Amino acid sequence: MTKNPPSNNPHNPRLIKLKHTPQIPRTIEKILHILRLHGFSAFVIGGCVRDCLLHKRPKDWDIATNATPKQICKVFANRRDFFSLEIGAQFGCIGLVEKKSKKMIEVTTFRVEREYQKFRKPQDVIFGTRLSEDVQRRDFRINALAFDENLRVMDYVGGLQDLKKRQIACIGEPKERLSEDSLRILRALRFCACLGFTIHTHTRDALFACASLMLHLSSERIKSELDKLLLGENSHKVLVEFDGIFKIIFLDFCKLTQNYLSSQLKDSPLFNPRALALLPRLPKKLELRWVALLYAFTMAQNISQKQAHENAKQILSALKSPKKFSEEVLSLFSAFLHFCTLQTSHSKVLSDIKLKRIFCTVKRESLESFFTLVRAKEPKLKRESLRALSAVLNVKELKINGNDIKSLDVSDGAHIGRILCQLLESVLKNEVPNTHNALLQRAKILKETL
Ligand code: ATP
Ligand code: MG
Repeated sequence: MTKNPPSNNPHNPRLIKLKHTPQIPRTIEKILHILRLHGFSAFVIGGCVRDCLLHKRPKDWDIATNATPKQICKVFANRRDFFSLEIGAQFGCIGLVEKKSKKMIEVTTFRVEREYQKFRKPQDVIFGTRLSEDVQRRDFRINALAFDENLRVMDYVGGLQDLKKRQIACIGEPKERLSEDSLRILRALRFCACLGFTIHTHTRDALFACASLMLHLSSERIKSELDKLLLGENSHKVLVEFDGIFKIIFLDFCKLTQNYLSSQLKDSPLFNPRALALLPRLPKKLELRWVALLYAFTMAQNISQKQAHENAKQILSALKSPKKFSEEVLSLFSAFLHFCTLQTSHSKVLSDIKLKRIFCTVKRESLESFFTLVRAKEPKLKRESLRALSAVLNVKELKINGNDIKSLDVSDGAHIGRILCQLLESVLKNEVPNTHNALLQRAKILKETL
């Protein structure tokens, strides 16, 4: 990198030429070019610049401009390649959709934010005319970097140094900034978990001091940040280090029925650190990461499996998790908790029949996920052996059906059902192979015992 001398003027950024030219997608370049052709200034800014400098592929690209929402729409009106959508025009945000790829890029007017309402949404947005103003309203210094038209990094707030030090620090006075919008607390922890950065001391103190303001946040916002945090490589470390912060929201999720929870958890950790160690051993699949989190939450308390299931259900529902997601997580969680509880009490690998009985409680399409969880806890168990054990887990998978039993002169539906269940039990116990003839012979014997 080559640098120009540091500037003391907040309106003049440090400009740094990178050794490797960053790769900006063509669509983004095109939008920048069009806005500049119309006499506006426009910059790529925020998380995408941060990710480029960390050699990570940005999830999304954001553009900031001095054009007002109206002016952006006017510039892109009647174009063959783009159309505009007013996705948040009152906050200065326009979505430009590339017609060919149907991709939407957010273009935001420079702004100076003022009053915050309920610690979340700015009460009024004042559009700014300069990038130097816009960077000040952003959350962290690493998120306030921009590329200029020559693809030099523009750094007004010391973001580059933070990237070098691998640290997260608020722009301005941390307590003030976190009180303005308490989602930034979770964002800081999320960046910490995903980037493996530390948190600057003042920002760290402010995170703890402002943590209770997170109770004003909507569950959707919390869930979305928690999800991203859980997928981070360092999530287990962050959940331990900032236990006190997560406690505030988790106790709130469980507050309706769990008065005892708060007394139990008041002075003890929210998550069991050994159970959290499962997190980095799991693939980046949200359902699995949530199971591990709920397991670590359960293991920090002395509660029954039933109570644990209730708590898990309440947490997912407080976060307004989609039904399908919650069902999947809860089913995997209960089976996993059952597995871990039995395994601990037997202090060695479970017998085949015990494993099979647990597998029976998991939907066939979720079994591979379940094996992943089991193997993260108990690597001795090989996937192939788990698959072999799960070959037959329900009546439908038997090589015999109700009509076959009927042909043995059993007409009562309940009797047919009972025989099929007993056949399944015999197959699970390896007493009978799952072949049509063997099952038919067995069914004849069972019929006599009815
Ligand atoms: P991700 O990798 O998840 O996209 P990001 O930092 O890009 O992370 P976005 O939600 O895409 O996050 O936001 C883009 C930019 O907008 C941020 O980099 C930051 O500059 C600014 N920003 C986002 N949320 C806030 C906030 N709550 N307060 C202040 N600035 C914010
Ligand atoms: Mg982003």
